[in-house]
Amino acid sequence: MNSITNIIEGAEKLGIKYRLDAPMSEYTSFRTGGKADVVFLPSSELQIRSLLRMCSDEEVKPFIFGNGSNLLVSDDGIRGVSIRLANNFEEIRLLDETTIYCSAGTKLASLCKFALEHSLTGLEFAYGIPGTAGGAAYMNAGAYGGEMKDVLTCCTHLDFEGNPGRLTKEYLTFGYRRSSYTDKYFVITGIIVSLKKGDKEEINAKMQELLGRRVDKQPLDLPSAGSFFKRPEGHFAGALIEQCGLKGFSVGGAQVSEKHAGFVVNKGGATTADIMELGRIVAEKVLGETGVELEREVKYIG
Ligand SMILES: Cc1cc2nc3c(=O)[nH]c(=O)nc-3n(C[C@H](O)[C@H](O)[C@H](O)COP(=O)(O)OP(=O)(O)OC[C@H]3O[C@@H](n4cnc5c(N)ncnc54)[C@H](O)[C@@H]3O)c2cc1C
Repeated sequence: MNSITNIIEGAEKLGIKYRLDAPMSEYTSFRTGGKADVVFLPSSELQIRSLLRMCSDEEVKPFIFGNGSNLLVSDDGIRGVSIRLANNFEEIRLLDETTIYCSAGTKLASLCKFALEHSLTGLEFAYGIPGTAGGAAYMNAGAYGGEMKDVLTCCTHLDFEGNPGRLTKEYLTFGYRRSSYTDKYFVITGIIVSLKKGDKEEINAKMQELLGRRVDKQPLDLPSAGSFFKRPEGHFAGALIEQCGLKGFSVGGAQVSEKHAGFVVNKGGATTADIMELGRIVAEKVLGETGVELEREVKYIG
């Protein structure tokens, strides 16, 4: 714990905000998870860089997260250092007529609204995805036929020693819900998206239509992390789960949503263990009955 104390002391000197014994249920959309030893809330790239350097000096590997909307944290919490890049680290600006830069903590919704304000089209698909720009780039978030890879032209990052770098379009690789950053030791600090001039009213209408579809189809009244499983090739996870009679199936407070079987929801009092166990049983049953393997989309940490 000495190394963590050193990092906290260093952060205090630099005015970096932090929270000790931070309940991760307050930082995840599932509203589950135990306490993190310490969550730092840096508000500038300089603060992030200083934190990473201190962690590197103390040989501590920090856990980086954004809005926690694709995250399941163990009921035992997270030991060591966690760094949250969310509403504490938000900045959006135009680089030219059709190009926007935003810092990693910027909400996707704010980025979409900014694009709308400037009559820029291309990001409508992302309206309603409740993550940060950094989390969306890391995950290659997507919906309704669009993905972050369609608009991203550059990501700026820091490595875990605090050295800055960037990946431009030709070096960024993406897959289904993964990017060049997935499972690598980098902190995405900002993204650049390239859009096209469009008609403001049409852009707004598209955003509202897609948001409406979410409200109609998704259990947005209950805590979740969106689609629990990745979409298996040639299938839809929700349809397979429903076909196996698992709609509404629950373990403790975790439930396969009655509204959309692709969502696991916290219907009240769920633990992360409940959710993981439910996911395990669902995947096992779907494999047994349909031969299709479901892979979890939601990231687990702890
Ligand atoms: C109701 C609901 C609907 C959803 N709908 C969709 C959808 O339509 N499409 C979709 O793709 N997703 C959807 N999601 C899932 C989620 O919103 C996305 O995956 C989102 O991109 C995650 O962003 P985040 O900031 O919350 O990331 P987090 O959940 O905080 O983190 C996700 C992963 O990214 C890493 N990470 C986050 N920020 C950084 C950073 N700055 N640098 C390095 N690594 C980082 C974390 O370590 C973690 O591995 C939905 C979730 C909910 C709750």
